[in-house]
Amino acid sequence: MLLVTVCSMVSVGDVVPTRMEKIKRTNWAANIMYDGAFHEMTAIEEIPALVQSLEKVTAVGTGHTFNHIADSPCNQISLRLLHEVSTFDEVSRTVTVQAGITYDQLCPYLEDRGFAVHNLASLIQLSVVGACSTATHGSGDKNGNLATSVSSLEMVTADGELVKLSRHNDVDFSAVLVGLGAFGVITQLTLDIQPAFNVEQYVYERLPFDQLRDHFDAIMASAYSVSVFTDWQDQQNNEIWVKSRVGDGEKFEATQKFFGATLATQKLHPVRNLPAETCTEQMGIPGPSFERLPHFRMGCTPSVGEELQSEYFMPRHYAAGAILALQGLSDEITPNVFVSEIRTVAADEFWMSTCYHRASVAIGFTWKPDWPAIKSLLPKIESVLAPFDPRPHWGKLFHFSPAELHSKYEKMDDFVQLASKYDPKGKFRNEFLSSYIFTPCS
Ligand SMILES: Cc1cc2nc3c(=O)[nH]c(=O)nc-3n(C[C@H](O)[C@H](O)[C@H](O)COP(=O)(O)OP(=O)(O)OC[C@H]3O[C@@H](n4cnc5c(N)ncnc54)[C@H](O)[C@@H]3O)c2cc1C
Repeated sequence: MLLVTVCSMVSVGDVVPTRMEKIKRTNWAANIMYDGAFHEMTAIEEIPALVQSLEKVTAVGTGHTFNHIADSPCNQISLRLLHEVSTFDEVSRTVTVQAGITYDQLCPYLEDRGFAVHNLASLIQLSVVGACSTATHGSGDKNGNLATSVSSLEMVTADGELVKLSRHNDVDFSAVLVGLGAFGVITQLTLDIQPAFNVEQYVYERLPFDQLRDHFDAIMASAYSVSVFTDWQDQQNNEIWVKSRVGDGEKFEATQKFFGATLATQKLHPVRNLPAETCTEQMGIPGPSFERLPHFRMGCTPSVGEELQSEYFMPRHYAAGAILALQGLSDEITPNVFVSEIRTVAADEFWMSTCYHRASVAIGFTWKPDWPAIKSLLPKIESVLAPFDPRPHWGKLFHFSPAELHSKYEKMDDFVQLASKYDPKGKFRNEFLSSYIFTPCS
């Protein structure tokens, strides 16, 4: 990707001191080198003056995105040292946090006080703000993505102003929260929380594809959160992970057989033959939701470690068709993939959400780290999925052109207009946003 942004500091008087590092850094997957200056905030009060002083700046969370969305050749601003809980309100069931907090910092805090968030991604190490900004999701028919639990936000805009937006009072909220970093630097978020709950996790092996095709709805609705893993071999899915809430009247009865799949007798990793120590407890051992809803344990390397990822979201009723279409490419997918994951996500109201106004099936690919091979495979995958109207994950690798992306989001033009109102000079517009969002496509 060509980096064309012009970087410079504009003089607006005294810039508050911040920690600025020039060392080479990368995203989590190390496929992207972060070259810009790194401004690490130590107080929210430092942010307005810094933002005002910079011509170009992009906020970065924990850097778990696989593309350039959090990258800037000029300046990255990090709130990772700002991870305090500002307010915990048991009565209104809300928690207000500084935006640098990660789920593995927040969830144990909530659990200690008898509360929890509604759902989590496959790993718990993500920053809350970075996850919400790209519509990061877990699984579950009734579970919206992680942004759906946010009720309000505070953000520093391009001119250094502090703006507060809430779900109930501000129409802009639906654009700004899943905002891809385009509106400003989010400094605080208020999240809805619920009483802490326990989850039991069961893993089944060898689910035949025809069972998944014929009983997709029943399988995915069988528990609070369900994931199917496959490497597209042998006409079968390798594993189903069934995460059942304890004590809410919807207990999953873990019989030996489940739609032709067999209950595992030992803990398993989603990737065939990898050791399972890094995975969350299985075999029906109940535990706090934050230690079961993610697939990988706190403090461990999630997933494989050296990998790339892509993911596509289709309207849920296309699930069987999309899975069959991908099966037709199995000879090309299998050698390149560690594993694929199939999940469901509820519809939501965020303009740029991959699940905007549609209950979705999400099909993800954890690729072996061979970018030339993946790069040539993605157009084929997008082509076989085309009849099912796929939207790619904003934080992962895809091939769609800007024009194709624009055609997938009915609110894209409104998003561009609103972001341009908040940030008229494009201070927060990096190469990714300029190429895919702010490019005129008609
Ligand atoms: C091993 C692994 C497993 C994953 N599993 C899942 C999964 O289960 N489900 C899923 O949906 N995704 C998954 N992802 C993808 C990941 O959740 C998303 O890419 C997420 O956005 C990463 O969060 P982050 O904090 O690392 O964000 P970053 O990569 O740091 O940033 C993401 C976006 O947030 C913006 N941003 C960051 N901070 C701010 C701020 N303060 N104000 C405004 N904007 C900001 C950035 O500018 C950028 O646009 C996985 C990734 C990895 C590496």
